[in-house]
Amino acid sequence: MNERNRVVIIGGGFGGLWAAKALANKPVEVALIDRKNHHVFQPLLYQVATAVLSPGEIASPIRRILHHAKNIEVILGEAVDFDKENNAVRLDDGTEVPFDYLIVAAGARHAYFGRDEWETWAPGLKTLEDAVEIRRRVLLAFELAERKAALSGVQDELTFAVVGAGPTGVELAGAIAGIARQALNKDFKAIDTSKARVVLFEGSDRVLGTFASDLSESAKQQLEELGVEVRLNSFVTEIEPGKLKVGEEWFECDVVLWATGVAASPLGSRLGVETDRAGRVKVEPDLSIAGHPNIFVIGDMVHLLQENGEPVPGVSPAAMQMGSATSENILAEIKGRPRKNFVYVDKGSMATIGRSRAIAQVFGMKFRGFVAWLMWLFLHVVFLIGFRNRLFVLMGWFWAYLTRERSARLITGDANELRDALMFMEGEEAVKLLEKLAAKETSAGPKEPA
Ligand SMILES: Cc1cc2nc3c(=O)[nH]c(=O)nc-3n(C[C@H](O)[C@H](O)[C@H](O)COP(=O)(O)OP(=O)(O)OC[C@H]3O[C@@H](n4cnc5c(N)ncnc54)[C@H](O)[C@@H]3O)c2cc1C
Repeated sequence: MNERNRVVIIGGGFGGLWAAKALANKPVEVALIDRKNHHVFQPLLYQVATAVLSPGEIASPIRRILHHAKNIEVILGEAVDFDKENNAVRLDDGTEVPFDYLIVAAGARHAYFGRDEWETWAPGLKTLEDAVEIRRRVLLAFELAERKAALSGVQDELTFAVVGAGPTGVELAGAIAGIARQALNKDFKAIDTSKARVVLFEGSDRVLGTFASDLSESAKQQLEELGVEVRLNSFVTEIEPGKLKVGEEWFECDVVLWATGVAASPLGSRLGVETDRAGRVKVEPDLSIAGHPNIFVIGDMVHLLQENGEPVPGVSPAAMQMGSATSENILAEIKGRPRKNFVYVDKGSMATIGRSRAIAQVFGMKFRGFVAWLMWLFLHVVFLIGFRNRLFVLMGWFWAYLTRERSARLITGDANELRDALMFMEGEEAVKLLEKLAAKETSAGPKEPA
């Protein structure tokens, strides 16, 4: 009989993966459960959403990443509940997975402040599927505008709205402005893509509010140089198809993207301990939960205050550090040694704004513009998992930098969606246009085979 301790990890994101790596080929049996078969490098999701990179370039199969670890089994499955008294995790098919130690690292998603119905009109960016959907909407908006201008001679104003000026909102807004002004304008004939408006709505009085105020100001300036309209103190209170509301004012927009609000995985609430307003689990200083020292919660799901009274931020270095620290505590305990409390080491933060533009604060020093962008580039390639991915991403960036091209400009999905989207976006006017198009197609007779 195998007497080694069994560690179950839920989630193969930054937290879960780093926990697993620290347990690789150590005297424990590990099962890592994830509902996806791949780990996603979330900091580069916006580049998939804006057609710089392809989904496969920022994701790797979890099984592949951990293939060298003989003691780790990767299980595809969704955890839905826990039996804390009998030390078991319940999966969606009813299977019970027993554990001696449990590490819950299921991450977080964006939240719509209780207005979940907005997600249909304003998708957020968290998974590869979200990124592909955003890419589809952005590219489709240009195609529809071109089609209308080519067939009816009318060029409508094209407006992209991004809600929330945190790192993701700033990255998205900057990259869409880049697409409109630099990448697409040579390929579209009937419309001038550089006239597309990109509007960034932010409820507070500055962009990138977690950075020093002079860096925030620099980021705002860099966004404006790219052509992004930054609207501060503009809290979005309503979203409907094709428009959003700030105060009493409605803004028409073709595409709305959501980049604010956080809700921890609902798994946190199944643990039966205290959570904060965003559903993050309040943990003990060693990241275990009250009354169950063998159950740990790490990463974006955690609410833990640092010595300075600030919560540990929901960023990848924090999740990675928590993953490693938890596994080290488990291994120490098995050897009869005491656990250590978790201390977050903040090495700094950076945010990119567009081609050659970024801000960074690292070890108390501040950087902006090209230097910050080079630092951002270097770090993101270093941490991207897999040699093949790194190589492809570097080549893709180099090409995009030289040519300002976007190589991953595919609109995927059913061709009929083009018609649906046109109907949705432009109401009765679109119906008339469709009728006109249908008449043209009929009068043109049968098409030649492609
Ligand atoms: C668009 C975007 C950009 C970001 N940019 C940066 C950045 O530039 N720098 C930075 O430091 N941080 C960035 N972050 C934050 C960073 O990605 C997170 O802090 C980090 O991923 C948290 O790690 P985690 O392990 O807690 O969760 P995640 O990495 O989200 O992993 C959670 C894992 O759990 C799995 N899972 C979820 N529920 C279940 C379930 N019920 N059963 C089984 N599996 C489940 C998921 O499939 C996923 O693999 C960004 C995040 C996003 C969304």
